[in-house]
Amino acid sequence: MRKRIIILGSTGSIGRNTLSVLAGLDGDWQVVGLAAGARHRDLAAQANQLRPEGIAIAQAEHASALDASLTYCPRVHTGPDALVRLVESVPCDCVVCAMVGAEGLSAVLKAVELGRRVALANKEALVIAGSLLMPLARHTGAEILPIDSEHSAVFQAMQAGRLGEVSKVYLTASGGPFRTWSEEEMAGVTVEDALKHPTWAMGKKVTIDSATMMNKALEIVEARWLFDLRPDQIAVVIHPESIIHSMVEFCDGSLIAQLGAPDMRTPIQYALTYPRRQVCPSPPLDLFEVGALHLQRPDPQRFPALALGYEVAQRGGTCGSVLNAANEAAVEMFREGAISYRDIARYTERALNNHPFNEAPTLDDLLAADRWARREVARCTTS
Ligand code: MG
Repeated sequence: MRKRIIILGSTGSIGRNTLSVLAGLDGDWQVVGLAAGARHRDLAAQANQLRPEGIAIAQAEHASALDASLTYCPRVHTGPDALVRLVESVPCDCVVCAMVGAEGLSAVLKAVELGRRVALANKEALVIAGSLLMPLARHTGAEILPIDSEHSAVFQAMQAGRLGEVSKVYLTASGGPFRTWSEEEMAGVTVEDALKHPTWAMGKKVTIDSATMMNKALEIVEARWLFDLRPDQIAVVIHPESIIHSMVEFCDGSLIAQLGAPDMRTPIQYALTYPRRQVCPSPPLDLFEVGALHLQRPDPQRFPALALGYEVAQRGGTCGSVLNAANEAAVEMFREGAISYRDIARYTERALNNHPFNEAPTLDDLLAADRWARREVARCTTS
């Protein structure tokens, strides 16, 4: 029996890599659903080739163009809740959640509610609603397996012991394009500078988040929920080669690391085949070629976003929603040239400090906090 898989965000970087992984898994899997935000041409091309039962496009204005390019008749869902309806209507074994940003949350919640295996690249879902998703997953039996390379590494390293035996987790960070820049140099960062990532090829939002290290802040919060860790059990270590993807320290002092070439296909495939391992299209790492691996402490002065991640992991409640939404809004404004690079962390921090904190929020409270934070950042930048 082939396993049935839905890919949400199939036209993005993780989505395309997932299709590449599936092509290497020799017909073990059947793609039964594909979803994209706006790229209707790419979505139609993928669908015509793989012929999934259902497809979804979130931006309804592209629905008729999508329809016109299809060479068969799948069930097409359109509009803001299209992804949720796709997950609901197509039975499957695994949902790959690779949408960017807060928009993916409701589809992740639906997949968890239905008890599916969720291969999660959309870290925002955990950052915003980890307090709801993790208990729900325990209740429905849904497995949430990380695709984020650091969290996949932690998850893989954790197989060497038990959760209660973990003393610390080291999340590695490349340091981004500004790792060696001075504070003065960083004041003049342009959008172009921020889009040059030294080791990983990713979407634009994630690349800018890596430059500010807000990506690592979000990953601290993601790790807190995924592995039920206290913030003081999570350390960030700068590792420019991006070969060690993260490490777990156990109570006996043993440190287990997962290493590999910086290729997203490895963590994607592990989330699909776990607990098994299969041959992967990503080329094996040549350690002799790598030669040396470097580890450094991050500089909190130049990367103020990191402290925000710890604060949010500590406070919980509505903080994750505000951190994510304020950052998304600020990154958008930076890309439009409305604010500077350093304003991204500044405005995000301001939103966190000023927001009406709720310790035990419902989904509606989290979505309200998200909207509040976006308005707050817009207000700060115009006043
Ligand atoms: Mg990552």
